[in-house]
Amino acid sequence: MDKEEKYVDEIADQDDNFSKWYNQIVRKAELADYAPVRGCMIIRPYGYAIWENLQSHLDARFKETGVVNAYFPLLIPRSFLEKEAEHVEGFAPELAWVTRGGGEELEEPLAIRPTSETIIGHSYARWVQSYRDLPLLINQWNNVMRWEKRTTLFLRTAEFLWQEGHTAHRTMEEAEERTRMMLEVYRAFVEEDAAMPVIAGRKTENEKFAGAVRTYSIEALMGDGKALQAGTSHNLGQNFAKGFDIQFLDADGQRKYCSTTSWGMSTRMIGGIIMVHGDSSGLILPPRLAPYQTVVVPIWRKEADKSTVLAQVERIEKLLKRKVRLKVDLSENTPGWKFNEWEMRGVPVRMEIGPRDVQNNSVVLVRRDNRAKEVVPVDALETRLPELLEEVQKALFQRALEFREKNTHYTDSYEEFKRIIAEERGFVRVKWAEDSAAEQAIKEETKATIRVIPFDQPAGGVQGKCIYTGKPATCEAIFARSY
Ligand code: AMP
Repeated sequence: MDKEEKYVDEIADQDDNFSKWYNQIVRKAELADYAPVRGCMIIRPYGYAIWENLQSHLDARFKETGVVNAYFPLLIPRSFLEKEAEHVEGFAPELAWVTRGGGEELEEPLAIRPTSETIIGHSYARWVQSYRDLPLLINQWNNVMRWEKRTTLFLRTAEFLWQEGHTAHRTMEEAEERTRMMLEVYRAFVEEDAAMPVIAGRKTENEKFAGAVRTYSIEALMGDGKALQAGTSHNLGQNFAKGFDIQFLDADGQRKYCSTTSWGMSTRMIGGIIMVHGDSSGLILPPRLAPYQTVVVPIWRKEADKSTVLAQVERIEKLLKRKVRLKVDLSENTPGWKFNEWEMRGVPVRMEIGPRDVQNNSVVLVRRDNRAKEVVPVDALETRLPELLEEVQKALFQRALEFREKNTHYTDSYEEFKRIIAEERGFVRVKWAEDSAAEQAIKEETKATIRVIPFDQPAGGVQGKCIYTGKPATCEAIFARSY
């Protein structure tokens, strides 16, 4: 067996063992590594570059809606967390504490932030005086820590990178509007930039954020038929405003509590991208977020050809500078090895340039997603390559959408529901009468939870009975086993 075959051979089969495949890809593609502390993660340059692209796209989308960035401290006094009862109860099992500093026991233990509603609430209370100070629309890019029991690189880690947006408003209606607006920002980002189809909707009482009035989320279906919560947006009502005394003097001369929101998306998204688009040869990255959109592989056999090929590569590099993120692989490896390596690392398009291509003043472009090849004249590259990258971007979305549709089941029978969850996975869309106890019972019996109650409900309301309780259904809900 030659080196190239062996290389591909080492990747586990997706159908056989999806989680092994996932962990191998994360490590082999040099996205991330395990850290010395259990549950933590080292994000390597190639993985971090995906995060940077994600950040810049998402940040621009936030700013279009008037959001600005700031930074709040890592450590949160215990007393702050205790000010919102549901919040502290929800997060207590996941908190990490700093109890010593400068060689001494601290008077008050400090939590490493699991999220920043409390410390930001404290600031907002001081910054908001009048209705003229509202709304406050602040986001921060940072790290948080939740002492998770079971962890997987990117998907669920004890420390993760994310952004957390926090807004304060004059009315509950305005807060609701912002909560929905930010969910829509996530939906558009995830579908357009990450090429991941999602279902947007509301979380049930059981699944909502600790301290929220209402949580909305977007849910995606992974390649193994499990669901992933890709982003959440919470309407916190006046819960935190009351805990932190965020009050303002309204135009009518009355002192009123603000309504606040928060919303977050994390490095989990990178795990989602891997699991939605990847295949048996490895990663497939959506062009808009790929660190390298195109890898250039120069090919020569005779030493005499080397300089002509490399001169052409240099010309093309100049031509495409700032138009396409290019990686030119000048390493000593064989072209075949480079093909496999960059395929495994998910670069959306490969550009091959050999002596004959130089003579014809053209290049060969090969798509990662379907391996289609085309010969493109160098003069046409500036327009054709960006266009081809957009075609790949759209094709990835379409493929994932078809996969989701094929793996979305509909049933009115609870027996059939159990069989689907056990044998087929995927989303199961059922008629539902909202009931927390019934939801809990289903979770215990099948491990499936309500991922989301989609915004998209049948026109004219839901007819029929709840799949579990037999009561008149009030909505359609999407169940799945999830990450
Ligand atoms: P939350 O504050 O719980 O609503 O979470 C905000 C976002 O972070 C959601 O999109 C979650 O999917 C994601 N998230 C929550 N916990 C983790 C974790 N342990 N590791 C990575 N991402 C997480």
